[in-house]
Amino acid sequence: MKAFRGEILSVPDDPAAAGADAIRHFEDGLLVVEDGLILACGPHAELAERFAEAEIEPLAGLIVPGFVDAHVHYPQIERIASHGEQLMQWLERHIFPAEKAFADRGHADSVAAFFLDELLRHGTTSALVFATVHPGSADALFEAALQRDMRIVSGKVLMDLGPEGLRDSVAEGRADTEALIARWRGRGRLGYAVTPRFAPTSSREQLADAGSLVAAHPDVLMHTHLSENPGEIAFVAERFPEAADYLDVYDRFGLVGPRSIFAHCVHMSDRALARMAEAGAGIAFCPTSNMFLGSGLFDLASADRHGVRIGIGTDVGAGTSLSILHTLGAAYGVCQLRSCNLDPFRALHLATAGGARVLNIADRVGGLLPGQEADFVVLDAAATPLLARHCAGTSLHDRLFALQVLGDDRAIAGTWLRGHCAHRRTS
Ligand SMILES: [Zn+2]
Repeated sequence: MKAFRGEILSVPDDPAAAGADAIRHFEDGLLVVEDGLILACGPHAELAERFAEAEIEPLAGLIVPGFVDAHVHYPQIERIASHGEQLMQWLERHIFPAEKAFADRGHADSVAAFFLDELLRHGTTSALVFATVHPGSADALFEAALQRDMRIVSGKVLMDLGPEGLRDSVAEGRADTEALIARWRGRGRLGYAVTPRFAPTSSREQLADAGSLVAAHPDVLMHTHLSENPGEIAFVAERFPEAADYLDVYDRFGLVGPRSIFAHCVHMSDRALARMAEAGAGIAFCPTSNMFLGSGLFDLASADRHGVRIGIGTDVGAGTSLSILHTLGAAYGVCQLRSCNLDPFRALHLATAGGARVLNIADRVGGLLPGQEADFVVLDAAATPLLARHCAGTSLHDRLFALQVLGDDRAIAGTWLRGHCAHRRTS
């Protein structure tokens, strides 16, 4: 048995619904861990006697749950910061050429290892990740995640209308998906997501087949993009004139349900948001990506009004950082432009327990609750001279907000997976 002593903060429930009761803060707290699971989390004064036999490690900084990245592309990590295009042209010019290289398993292994180590360095312990069309790209990521004991959900991308060299067929897509599910099911903390890239790159037959794969496997997620960029939305409207809107394209093929996660959802009608809420589907809000590609401003207040579940995605390579802290700062800015005020405690919730809910893993991680896996990070509010100067003597609210606006990987003092230190900042 092991225990970590320090200042602990978690927001297991959404403060937008639960109010201030959602915030669990222990200035001198104790996080007790056995076999990777949390036995107790509360004030040191209350727990110390009960867990007197635990070996205690003091941690300086603010202990929060490990971050959940609800949408990111590992094969795009090397194309981050590629200049000058909006979505459809950016894919053609920068992304599809990069993804073609993942036909080579050695390349996939090397990028997967780099990507996961970067996630840990940025405090991200769980993620829903796009691979490429090549099944080996998913194998590479799963293998590297298993080695590191990370909670990673991924899948090979289905795209039978993709460009030359990035195209499967309906039959290949199905066979590869089935084989990957069979190969990786139940191993470590891995999960599978049936992953049609987006409506423009799949035939009707493939979208229908994806729906049948999701129905056939009750333990898998469905992960795709929705209503991101004006050019993409116009293309989809032209190709699927029978659909009420972009969401309805997916709905017609059985792809809208409680295990579905849609990245972006920037341009959504009330009808579509109401349907998402009814179906229990989740949104990955990706603010840096939406600004970088000129896609638009996600409307958090509208999604809230309909009660849609929301997580935070970095969406690298269109996103500009793997840092969830930095992404929360951008989310604040996007909400400001929508006349909506994102509270820092709620932001932390969306990036931890909220994201876990979207990924259907909220029973496992995200709240630092007893029975959950002990995935956590230590935030350093003195990581830079400006943070240190700003945060000295401030309230928890102001310190947390400053970490989101001014913080990034420099503010991650360390990252723990199931109670084991997986990354410690060296300088
Ligand atoms: Zn994406």
